[in-house]
Formats: sequence, C-alpha cells, structure tokens
Amino acid sequence: MGQQDAPLIATDIHKRFGEHEVLKGISLEAHKGDVISVIGSSGSGKSTFLRCINMLEIPTSGDIQVHGETVKFRQTKKGERLPADIRQVEKMRAQLSMVFQSFNLWSHMTVMENIIEAPIHVLGVDRKEAMDRAEEHLNRVGLWDRRDYYPAHMSGGQQQRAAIARALAMNPEVMLFDEPTSALDPELVGEVLKVMRGLAEEGRTMVVVTHEMAFAKDVSNKVMFLHQGKIEEYGNPKEVFNNPKSERFKQFISPSY
Ligand code: ADP
Ligand code: MG
Repeated sequence: MGQQDAPLIATDIHKRFGEHEVLKGISLEAHKGDVISVIGSSGSGKSTFLRCINMLEIPTSGDIQVHGETVKFRQTKKGERLPADIRQVEKMRAQLSMVFQSFNLWSHMTVMENIIEAPIHVLGVDRKEAMDRAEEHLNRVGLWDRRDYYPAHMSGGQQQRAAIARALAMNPEVMLFDEPTSALDPELVGEVLKVMRGLAEEGRTMVVVTHEMAFAKDVSNKVMFLHQGKIEEYGNPKEVFNNPKSERFKQFISPSY
C-alpha cells in the first residue's frame, strides 16, 4: 500500500526530557482501518509516544505525517524544536481525536455541550447541525438519554463513552486512545471495550495504548510492544502472541507477570 492509504505515519520519533531519553526512535504507520495496540509496562513511553503523535509533546526529533501532510518544525536560537506553524498543528490535531485515561470531559458542561464544543468552535459547524450529529454519536455509544447530564452525575464507563462520542464528533482520520479503561472499575470496562470493538469493526483507524490483552489479541490487527522507549516486538497479534521473538515480550505476556 502506498502512503496515500496511511492517514498517520510517525518516523523515528525521539523524545528527551532533560537527560532522560524516553523515546529512542519509534516509527509507526497506520493504514486506513488499522487498529494498532501499543502495549508495554508502565514507564516504557507509551503515553509519551501518543502525545508526540498529536503534538501534546514536541518530539525531540523525528517526523509526523497526517493525511499526507508533514508537520513542520523550526529551531529556536537556543536549539529548541517548536512547531513552525501553529495553525498546521491545530488542523492536524483536529484529524487525530484523543481519548484519555481520565476522560477529560469539561465538568461544567453537559454531555451534549461537551460533544458539540469542538465541532462548533474548531470545525465551524453550526449549532443545530452539531447537535443533530451529536445525537447520532450519543446513540452510537448508548448515551442518548444522558445527553443533558453533567459528567459528575455519570459513572466512569458512561463518562468514557461520552468522551468517545466527543472524539467521534470531530470525524477524525485516526483515533488515539491512552489506556481508556485503566481508570474504570472492573465492571465498567466491558461497556467501553464493546464500543471500541464496534468502532474497529466499522473500519476506524485507531491507535490504542492498552493493558487489555484480549483487546490487543482479538480486536487489533497490529501490536507494538514498547520497552524502555524502543519497539521490542511488532507485528500481527496472532503471530506475536503465539510466537514471540523477544524474551521481554514473552515475560510481559506470561501469566505470572
Ligand atoms: P507509559 O505511558 O508507558 O507508562 P510514559 O510515556 O508516561 O510511560 O513515561 C515514560 C517515561 O517518561 C517515564 O519515565 C516518565 O517519568 C517520563 N516522563 C513522561 N512525561 C514526562 C515529562 N513531562 N517530564 C519528564 N519526564 C517525563
Ligand atoms: Mg501512560
């Protein structure tokens, strides 16, 4: 497949915080419909990698290409790397919706207001149209009857489904998930995974940082295992789980881990 089919290409991403090099050259190419699970132990760099992809962190080096457009950087006099064009970053970020572990809904807004905020203010959709579309997304995640609730009056699973509806409302090229079920009580994990599985089946392109090995195995078509900022194992889940090459990955997936 050519690069036209790849809505997201990250090439040789490095990220350093002071002396600590957290990412040591991570590359990822997401083709349309790919569901890529990123797994690895705590501190291996998974969140930093996702945050570099949508420029919540500026990669120290490496390139990011979204829908064929490469993010432009400039160097300051002190040698610091910054985005060259903040509008380009905003445009690119609008194509990469992120779902966070802690939901990050606006607490002073109802579910409906949370969902229509960015379509209205970032995409310029009119309010009526944004609300009509939001109802579809709310139906999609099973929260139509909760549209006028404030986040604090909903369960964690409902809040996370609302956050997914909010991400969908941007009609993103790629959805990024950072441990979307890690903050949930165990009995609420299933309802969120079910929505995510549905999105995968619809052919959405997704990059999912997760500890849910069943999701990585059964739903994703590619798995990336990070260890200390490097890709330690990568491939089709059937192959890598049945026939892991890396000792560290073997340990990671062994039941005693
Ligand atoms: P993971 O998501 O895999 O648990 P992270 O990407 O959050 O890992 O973190 C990887 C490493 O980078 C950790 O050692 C963490 O302490 C460090 N780190 C992450 N963000 C920052 C930051 N803003 N400043 C300094 N160090 C950071
Ligand atoms: Mg993390």
